[in-house]
Amino acid sequence: MDANATQRLTQMDAYFYIDNQRVPAPAGQTIDVIDPADGTVFGQIARGSADDIDQAVQAASAAVGEHLDGPWGLTSARDRGRLLMKLGDAVLERADELAQLEARDTGKSLRTAKADVMALARYFEYYGGAADKLQGETLEYETGYMVVTLREPHGVTGHIIPWNYPMQIFGRSVGAALAAGNACVIKPAEDASLSSLYLAELAAEVGFPSGVVNVVTGYGHEAGAALSAHPGIHHISFTGSTATGQRVAEAASRNHRPVTLELGGKSPQIVFEDADLDAALPVLVNAIVQNAGQTCSAGSRLLVQESIYEDVVNQLAQRFRELRSGPPAQSLDMGPLVNKRQYDRVRELLEVARQEGLTVAARGQIVPDAPEGGYYQEAVLLRDVPPASVLAREEIFGPVLAAMPFRDEAHALELANDSEFGLVAGVWTRDGARQLRLARRLRCGQVFINNYGAGGGVELPFGGVKSSGYGREKGFEALYGFTVLKTVAIRHD
Ligand code: NDP
Repeated sequence: MDANATQRLTQMDAYFYIDNQRVPAPAGQTIDVIDPADGTVFGQIARGSADDIDQAVQAASAAVGEHLDGPWGLTSARDRGRLLMKLGDAVLERADELAQLEARDTGKSLRTAKADVMALARYFEYYGGAADKLQGETLEYETGYMVVTLREPHGVTGHIIPWNYPMQIFGRSVGAALAAGNACVIKPAEDASLSSLYLAELAAEVGFPSGVVNVVTGYGHEAGAALSAHPGIHHISFTGSTATGQRVAEAASRNHRPVTLELGGKSPQIVFEDADLDAALPVLVNAIVQNAGQTCSAGSRLLVQESIYEDVVNQLAQRFRELRSGPPAQSLDMGPLVNKRQYDRVRELLEVARQEGLTVAARGQIVPDAPEGGYYQEAVLLRDVPPASVLAREEIFGPVLAAMPFRDEAHALELANDSEFGLVAGVWTRDGARQLRLARRLRCGQVFINNYGAGGGVELPFGGVKSSGYGREKGFEALYGFTVLKTVAIRHD
């Protein structure tokens, strides 16, 4: 890791970013930033309160204007798009520094962090290009009328960002909200706030007006709860756990504010006996070990047709044994998990697996030079996991794959849909009619046939059904969520 960048980042003072300025944390109101690679403290962030959130909301409200007539409210779609494009370019120019920052803060391998930076830049590019293509319609109505619809911004949007893909989720939600003309107040996870602070400052540097991009760091139950309940927030985009998502939606509902919830999943990968295994196997592994399994769309349930079950499990076991976890800078298959809480959660679920008598088909390795005190978890392949097992039903958010056999297509569909969640599904088969049937019948927000796009796909609408949440992020579709449709009826005769 570049010594200068690390030194500079570790010396960062604790501040919020509001109205294009650093606002120092009140005395004593800081939270330690912990390096997941070794458990040491390497900086502080500011601990935001309801007052700090209020200050940010006021700055954003002034930018957008009460009547959409503030400096940002009057900025044309073309100019909003240009600013987003510039931000995307600035991200690419700073790609190495941003990747180092994210790897240090979250523990993700430098390779994954670099991929996240590329996706972040792509979000700004995509939504920059889309800003002036977001249009209303002309409607047929009675004679003598012209009726049009306008797509208008909500006003001030709140963004509660988790720690697993902080930059990507910043890009997809803040990028789309800005393109649609909203001003944003962002509350990143306390374990992964540095990139949001960095990006807000970068937005100011490329020319976003004051108050358009504001970041208030802090704890979820303090700053996050205050943001969810603030009447000056007109829409909330939340990514995280089902329980917290529910709390956020309840708080927002008291002000009648809409929310978009992206709440994770237990996504099935279904492998039929006619599948191209050479193509499938590396993708199946990557879908669960990407970002050490801390991915909402991780392919964490593996359903394999019984005729090829032994073969697939054996081949996967071989691959799992070779997977290595270690310090982010080594860019191995996985870095450490993000924090002690997540590490303990994964260990507890593996203990449940042991108590349930589940069979471990293979374990990966933790490299010998991984520092003591880091949150390293080796990849684990569990086989013959009963559909009722906690390991087959709960989101683990770690590199643990639960494999189980199925008899035929009907059985596969039953198992796949037998989940509280419904985010993503993968299907591996050469049978075209089966591909189409399953694409229709799987109850989830995205289906990948003979590929799997965990975490990827800036252009592809993304979101869940059931407890995986509602509303759509990514793609053009996300822009509709960040706007309100107004109907204007004009009588001309
Ligand atoms: P949370 O859902 O609690 O955290 C997600 C975000 O919500 C963070 O920014 C958090 O801030 C914030 N938050 C927490 N409490 C509140 C609140 N009362 N009001 C408003 N915002 C709040 O997830 P955890 O970090 O606790 O992780 C637990 C589990 O959630 C994981 O094991 C995983 O299963 C799931 N998860 C799913 C994600 C996804 O991508 N769908 C992402 C992250 C987690 P802070 O962290 O500062 O408390």
